[in-house]
Amino acid sequence: MEAWRRQLDDPVSAFPIAKAGPAHIATLKTYDPPLATLEGRRLAGAERRAKRLLFPTEDGELVLLVHLMTAGRLKYLGAGEKGPKTPAFQLQFEGGARLVLTEAGAKKRAGVWLLTPAAAEAELAHLGPEALGLGPERLGELVRGESRRLHSLLRDQRVLAGIGRAWANEILHEARLSPFALSKELDDEEVERLAAAIDSELSRGLELRERGAADDKTYRVHKKLGKPCDICGTSIAQVDFDEHTIFYCPQCQTGGRLLKDRRLSKLLR
Ligand SMILES: [Zn+2]
Repeated sequence: MEAWRRQLDDPVSAFPIAKAGPAHIATLKTYDPPLATLEGRRLAGAERRAKRLLFPTEDGELVLLVHLMTAGRLKYLGAGEKGPKTPAFQLQFEGGARLVLTEAGAKKRAGVWLLTPAAAEAELAHLGPEALGLGPERLGELVRGESRRLHSLLRDQRVLAGIGRAWANEILHEARLSPFALSKELDDEEVERLAAAIDSELSRGLELRERGAADDKTYRVHKKLGKPCDICGTSIAQVDFDEHTIFYCPQCQTGGRLLKDRRLSKLLR
């Protein structure tokens, strides 16, 4: 998300908005103020809060908030550049450039909100602190604050903002921690490893995204079932947990044990 923010920061503020919309009915989550209120205004740039992108207007009166979820993509198209026929959402700038949101698949999960700055603040208030750069001390307080399986705790944006399920897999692999380990039971050394892995993995992801690397090259364990672990060569395993599939190395992370699907049997740790 940070890579996208950087890419969009300059172009979106280059010209005032000529036309806001169309927007898919499931994508646009607010109707007051109406989208047309954006027309004639200039955006100040792109900001990011966890996985949300924020586009405040230069006059400080409105904030366009975008959450891409898993399948949403946001693209800036120069004047005359070809784009999708039916974007889920679009802003057209004076001069012809466009900001276009597309979403693969039939389910529309990505969302766009047009808010006042106060409403945007309220919308974001429940988010935890940014994961990147948190450090072992603060991270230790957060993970020991509740007893949760590490993978689900890392993904919980109210605890820690900015880690999705793919990067939770990558981070836990790098930290050599079991996805099912209980957060409260981590010792100091494990918390330090986790803090270091959060920073190194999120930075690595950012760098790769900026270079435009494909998912397959970006991830080391996520969706790598059966592929060799790049540290020990053991086949990467997967386990179902709630509604997610978790990927991990049974050698590096769980002491050689295979984790059992949560629905089928008691959890191993
Ligand atoms: Zn391994």
